[in-house]
Amino acid sequence: MKLIALLHTQADGSLAKAALETVSAAKQLGVPFAVGILGKGAKAACGAVAACGAEGFFAVEGEAFEQPRYATDVAAETALVQAAGADVVLAAQTSRFARSLPGAAYRLGAQVDTHIVSLSLEGEKITAQRWYYRQRILATFSRAARPLVLLVDAGLYEPYAGEAAAATVQDVAVALTDADRRTTVTGVQASSADGQTIRPDAKLLFVAGAGWTKKQKDGAVHTDEAGALIQGFLQKSGASLGSSKSVVDLQSEGQQGLSFISHMNQVGQTGSTPRHPKGLATCCHGEEPHVVGWRFINERRAVNTDPNCGWAQGKADVVYVADAFEVMQKVNALL
Ligand SMILES: Cc1cc2nc3c(=O)[nH]c(=O)nc-3n(C[C@H](O)[C@H](O)[C@H](O)COP(=O)(O)OP(=O)(O)OC[C@H]3O[C@@H](n4cnc5c(N)ncnc54)[C@H](O)[C@@H]3O)c2cc1C
Repeated sequence: MKLIALLHTQADGSLAKAALETVSAAKQLGVPFAVGILGKGAKAACGAVAACGAEGFFAVEGEAFEQPRYATDVAAETALVQAAGADVVLAAQTSRFARSLPGAAYRLGAQVDTHIVSLSLEGEKITAQRWYYRQRILATFSRAARPLVLLVDAGLYEPYAGEAAAATVQDVAVALTDADRRTTVTGVQASSADGQTIRPDAKLLFVAGAGWTKKQKDGAVHTDEAGALIQGFLQKSGASLGSSKSVVDLQSEGQQGLSFISHMNQVGQTGSTPRHPKGLATCCHGEEPHVVGWRFINERRAVNTDPNCGWAQGKADVVYVADAFEVMQKVNALL
């Protein structure tokens, strides 16, 4: 087996956490491996992981590879794998690789598997795991086919953290046509740091349910206050924001909802299945189609005025039967 850990740099030439996790994934397989890096400052980035124990370092850099563009990325990835003579490719499931590596796999005549959550090696046999059917079925499989490209989900390995050193890097040439350069990335549209409420690395998932937008005990709705409490908590705690489907539906139906919540925040059967050590649900009933999205939330708590809400039916570790407006006001004050 000839293994390569394939990484790409960020726009500033650094290696992201997901790239460093790929290096750890390759190391943990316990066989000799090479490192291939593409993107801005790829050669310098080899230096950052020079002490990882890799047998060889391969880099593709240059203006054409600084932007994540399908055609040039596919050409670079194909060239890196061929230069290393690799028949097993490990890469992180980043948007850049998820989009382009299947194309490179096709050109290499390789099989490709995505969203790998576990890897082990016995002799030449790699055994991998991935979830199917919205995280309901965990499959364990191996493939005899080579080459094999494996895209590994983030957050499974400790990011490699060795000292930087001098690396002997093989500069891999890539032949590009004009057609390969036809697409240009003209800019990036990203939400502002404050508006970025989905934080995969946060220790806590904070879920806002539709109760925040409902009539409260004084008979009135207090959506503005709810928004201020939730955003205040997110800002102070660094938590990631999830929501129930009801909140998202309010938005799309044009009713007065919580404007900073979108369908991207929805957790559940028809939403996302985020991974966080802890979760706190507020003003959310805890119905099964929502709670199924909490599969990877280890410690679960909920605040609900209703002692018979779904969370109290064995779905949470702790349920606070309390008014979330009062609780979060107090929590924010303490923070
Ligand atoms: C096919 C299908 C797929 C679905 N997929 C999803 C999905 O992916 N994600 C999802 O979330 N839902 C999904 N649903 C919908 C789901 O069944 C529920 O309707 C939804 O989760 C309810 O949202 P909620 O708990 O926020 O709102 P509600 O059911 O309206 O609950 C509001 C809660 O707030 C509490 N509350 C009110 N005021 C306060 C207060 N001051 N303090 C504390 N608590 C208070 C109330 O007691 C109540 O429990 C799906 C449904 C179907 C049929």
